[in-house]
Amino acid sequence: MVAGALLGGCAKPISPEPRLTDTARPDPITTSAYVSPAVARMEQPLPVEIFTPRNISGRTLAVATTSDIVLKPGEVVLTFDDGPRPGKTPAILDTLEDYGVKATFLMLGSAAEANPRLARKVAEGGHTVGSHTYGHVDLSKLTRQEAINEIVKGEEAVAAALAGSGKAAAPFFRFPYLSQTGFLRTNLLQSGAVVLDVDIDSKDYYRDSAAVVAQRTISRLDARGSGIILFHDIHQRTVDMLPAFLDQLARKGYTVVRLVPRNGNIFGRDLITAGMAQGNAEQL
Ligand SMILES: [Zn+2]
Repeated sequence: MVAGALLGGCAKPISPEPRLTDTARPDPITTSAYVSPAVARMEQPLPVEIFTPRNISGRTLAVATTSDIVLKPGEVVLTFDDGPRPGKTPAILDTLEDYGVKATFLMLGSAAEANPRLARKVAEGGHTVGSHTYGHVDLSKLTRQEAINEIVKGEEAVAAALAGSGKAAAPFFRFPYLSQTGFLRTNLLQSGAVVLDVDIDSKDYYRDSAAVVAQRTISRLDARGSGIILFHDIHQRTVDMLPAFLDQLARKGYTVVRLVPRNGNIFGRDLITAGMAQGNAEQL
């Protein structure tokens, strides 16, 4: 899906790290004034750069269909599934704001229904809100009609939660467990939905430490060079790892692409033909 992914992820050069011992390094001749490196390090302030959030927002990409999502080397899309979740989603929103980036939240209908204010807060923060079924079921195990009903129920619950926010649900959808069938995918695409695939799975649902999740995700991103990253805004480790992860993105020169729907909300799906005819003119 992503052209040129092998070209590498460091679109911008990494700025050199401050050298901790530059000012404390003794003149090689004045050995009597030597300060041990350990002491010198303790006396040095921590390099501010490492812990200061930087704005790493990149392009806004308006998409009408899945194949419109074409990222350049060094570009990532952040996606968060299964929320909104009190105590977790707000912290993630704060971190995203620190770095000036917008993400896509694929909400469960049941979670949005249970936490409508939080769902609206996500949308009002400028993030894109799509859906992820109502009850997180494996759609490949249902009949076709049952599966479609589950998808629509999820979309409608998310849309209902956002009602009154002035923000519409996007026709963005992700299959739970990434478990899809050809019939459902084709049906969704023909109806004008944007099926969000995953290029890099953080596996933040594993019982790993936040540091391990961050490092694993960065390694996979570096190997691929760009991509759509899957997180879940329901885990504390995701809350914990996100600042360090975004800091790594900043240090490595990645930018975060904001995905927005080109055709409006989930009820605008019959506009798919009109949207296609506009070509790339509305790509921001
Ligand atoms: Zn999920």
